[in-house]
Amino acid sequence: MNTKKRIYIGLLAASLLLILSIVAVIYYLIANRDIIISQVLLISITVMATILFLILAFGIIAIVIIIIRAQAIPSLETISQRANELLFPLALFTGRLVGISKDRILQSYIAVNNYLVHSKYLRLRGEQIMILLPHCLQDSECPHKITMDVNNCKGCGKCDIAKLKEMAEEYNAIIKVATGGTLARKFVLDTHPRGVVAVACERDLSLGIHELGGLPVIGVLNCRPNGPCFNTTVNLDEVEAALQSIIKEDENRA
Ligand code: SF4
Repeated sequence: MNTKKRIYIGLLAASLLLILSIVAVIYYLIANRDIIISQVLLISITVMATILFLILAFGIIAIVIIIIRAQAIPSLETISQRANELLFPLALFTGRLVGISKDRILQSYIAVNNYLVHSKYLRLRGEQIMILLPHCLQDSECPHKITMDVNNCKGCGKCDIAKLKEMAEEYNAIIKVATGGTLARKFVLDTHPRGVVAVACERDLSLGIHELGGLPVIGVLNCRPNGPCFNTTVNLDEVEAALQSIIKEDENRA
């Protein structure tokens, strides 16, 4: 087994041991609860668990309040975001346990995220917005290297890239095509957009939204008439609506 695999397998085993140790310590403390130190430790663990629970519960309530009011509340943003980030893997796990498909859960996550971004009523300049596209939107037979520079697209119209490039020019937005999460992150780090309209599948979008943390990302799901990751398409009206929802009104149309 090489080092890369050993690290992951080691971490899996360490996680299991950690869970086992926590359960063993709690069991020991409960079994010896007549000893003062056990009582103190049990109370401390209970207090910490209660505080964590209350913070997460308050985070969920904050998300619901923002959705109901359809307006961001700056003082609740951090806590709602942290609760969202921390509970995301747990929500996926719970959803799988009750038989909800992963794609449906991720679609719901993306919809909630988009709503939270809309509730901020961002009004950005065109050049502060990045349209981030997946490489699979490009026609598989196209010889032009658009991940280096979208302007290499010759606009033949065989795929949606031509129209999306025109849209970016029209709104003066940055447009990038990424082959994966690493390149997408590099584009974001290099250009520092204040808002992103990202097109991808459920998995990549939710991962991207999750990883980019505080950066407002509106996710638009791609269409996969030829199966995943191959000659995909996107509803251009949806991309334009996402763009218009975070751009200053007087910035529209170059
Ligand atoms: S529209 Fe652009 S990217 Fe798509 S196939 Fe034509 S030249 Fe290639």
